[in-house]
Parts: sequence; structure tokens; C-alpha cells
Amino acid sequence: MALRSTADALADILAHFHPLPAESVPLLEAYDRVLAHDIVAGESLPPFANSSMDGFAVHADDISAAPVRLKLTMDIPAGSFPGRPLGRGEAARIMTGAPLPEGANAIVPVEDTDAQFKPSSDAPLPEHVEIRRSVATGAYVRPVGEDVRVGQTVLKTGTVLGPAEVGILASIGQARVQVIGQPRAVVLSSGDELLDPADALSPGKIRDANTFTLTGQLRAAYARVLHVPRISDHLPDALARIDEALSLHPHLIVSSGGVSVGAFDVMRHAVESYGALEFWKVNLRPGKPLAYGQVRGVPFFGLPGNPVSAMVTCDVFVRPAVLTLGGRSLQTDSIIAQAGHVIQSDGRRTYARVTLAREGGALVARETGTQSSGALSSMALADGLMIIPEDVTHVEAGESMTIRLLRPLRV
Ligand code: AMP
Ligand code: MG
Repeated sequence: MALRSTADALADILAHFHPLPAESVPLLEAYDRVLAHDIVAGESLPPFANSSMDGFAVHADDISAAPVRLKLTMDIPAGSFPGRPLGRGEAARIMTGAPLPEGANAIVPVEDTDAQFKPSSDAPLPEHVEIRRSVATGAYVRPVGEDVRVGQTVLKTGTVLGPAEVGILASIGQARVQVIGQPRAVVLSSGDELLDPADALSPGKIRDANTFTLTGQLRAAYARVLHVPRISDHLPDALARIDEALSLHPHLIVSSGGVSVGAFDVMRHAVESYGALEFWKVNLRPGKPLAYGQVRGVPFFGLPGNPVSAMVTCDVFVRPAVLTLGGRSLQTDSIIAQAGHVIQSDGRRTYARVTLAREGGALVARETGTQSSGALSSMALADGLMIIPEDVTHVEAGESMTIRLLRPLRV
């Protein structure tokens, strides 16, 4: 079978994925979700002109010859609304955030007056205030709509909602928001040799790592991850577990192990009896064997069993599918770094585990010792994956290479 290019395989897979329908969520559940439509403000922010300081509301023309004494005729605490306009020659005591009275056009901060008290709503209102400094028209006034105007598009479709965006929605009175649905993924592992972390080791057995690596990777792509018990290498068990997975109504199923040509690789038979599975030899290292298909219409990924291969194929093929379902950008965090030493490759597109270090002015990438596709510690050590393109068999020391970052760059 000819090797398929990674790009072709990914394009074939992504043709089956589209953003999920929108759903309405309360604001406190909206963080990290993706906005399903533009948000047009139904209200202005601020909704009324207000003071940005504790001080005195005045007409700027009345204090141009400061120092001047003005009659205090009103007290305007935050949350109240002035019942009448400010007359010329008058001042109103006003707190930060309180509405400007009609007739006022500037604020004098309390520090620029003779007012001794710390302004507070229960301090008695003196009869007069001495203004010691003139201010310009509009000083310390936050006009209506300074932040957001009614009718303005404040957030665009596709925006990932972070703290500031959720704060804006709250400010304009949106208690709920329409976001793209969250992808549900079932992760399952197969193999008679696998044990749970809490199980005692016994001869011939190893612990199931892939359930844990894949769950973390899919969560990082904002999927809700569900699990079914591990699948043994027996067909009836595999069929029962797949039924169980389907009963969780996932948008995709991600399995690892059991899809090679090993005599006990039952996953392929199980999936094929429910749907269709294609086996691809992808021009990718690690991770050449990859199965993709559907069970009862649900997309099914059969990743290789070796832990590093499973992680790399999850990153390269499953992550973009999950991001697409979630309406998110497929862009990965990557950076250019110089190879720290000669690296040989076999001409397949290779994801080499590398550390990154700043040396002199340059960012230098070095392989993390063993590149065995079973050595998970090399993934834990790696800051990123150096992408060695197809048909490149030799990378020179100092050559500029693209690194897919696995964690935020801290060098
Ligand atoms: P398979 O694809 O089932 O032939 O598995 C290939 C290799 O990956 C074997 O050494 C398996 O023991 C190992 N393997 C498969 N599934 C897991 C898993 N969930 N966790 C750790 N290693 C696994
Ligand atoms: Mg197996």
C-alpha cells in the first residue's frame, strides 16, 4: 500500500467534520466557549454620563476664575439619579459612577476643593464648596456610550469567550449566550495486556497510559471526554464496548491499540461489523498506521497503540477534527528554531521530540534522547515537536525548523 501524505489524510478526515449547532448557556458557563453569532449591544456602556471621580459636578464656565465658592445644592451618591438640573453657580457633590446632573459638564475632584471630608453618602452636605482649580469642559466625565454604543457589534461570531468578553456580555445585559456546542468524545483503549494505574503489575501486563494521554489532549481541544471500560482482545467484548460508547451519543470515538495486523486486533473487526474502517499507512513518524471510519455514523479514529504514536496522531488528526466541531481555529502554536545538531530522518514526515533553549540570540532545538514511539517520558521532556518534512532525510545543525509547541515557551 502506498504511503498517504499527512496532509491528504487530514483533508479526508476533516471533510467529515463541521461546527456543531449552537446552544444557549448561562454566562458563568460560557468561558472558553465559541460565540455562535455576532453580539450587537442593546444598551450603551456606560448607559448614562457619569463621574469618574469622587468630587463635585459643576459647569466648567462657573469655575474658570478659580478659586471660587459655589453653593452646594445636591448630593448624588452612586446608584441614585439627580431629581433636578444643576443651576449655574451651583455645585453637586457626586461620587464615582454617579450620573451627571443636567446642566453640569465637568467634575472637580475632591482633592482640588476645600472639602475636608472623605466624600461618602452619609457625610452631611456643607452649604458651600471652594473650588481651587479650574477644569476643562468634560473633565472626569465618562460620556454615554464611551465604551460601547447601542447598536454596535461588540463581539464577533467565532470569538472565544474569555474573562473580558464574558464581562462585556454581563455589562450589556446578556444573561445567556449562544455558543457552538461542545464536542463529546469517547476515549477507549484496547488490549489484554492493559491494567489500570491502581492495579498490581503481573507478568506480561502493562498499565494503560493512552486513556490518560488522549483524555488530556482532547480536553485541551475543549472536548468533553467520556469513557467506557477497556476492551479486551475478544470480539464480543469489543462489540459490547462499542455499543456502550455509542449509547453516550458521542460526536467521535477515539480508540488506541488493536488496529494493526496483530492476530488479536479485534477492534477493526468490531468496527467493521458496525460501519466502515479504512486503514491508512500515513507518511508520518511516529504514527504510521492509522484507521479512520465510522460506527453507526459516528466518526471513529483508530490510533496506534504505542503511547507516543497515539499522542502524535491525536495531535495531528484528532485535534483538528475536534476543533472543527467546536468552531475553533485549527492553528497550532509553533515557532521557528535552529536544529542544535544533525538530525537524520527516514524521509517520512517526522515529529521529533525536542527541547528548546535560548543560546546566544538563537532558539535551539535538541532531540530529547530516545525517540522510541513507546517512550512517553520523551514527550514529557519535550517542549515541542520538530516537524521534519516529507523527503527530508538530513537536517543540518543550525538549520531553521518549525517546532509545534507542546507547552508555552518559557525560554
Ligand atoms: P497494538 O496497536 O495494540 O498492537 O499496540 C502497540 C503497542 O502499544 C503495544 O506494545 C501495546 O502494549 C501498546 N499499547 C496499546 N495500547 C496501550 C495503552 N492504552 N497504553 C499503553 N500502551 C499501549
Ligand atoms: Mg493490542
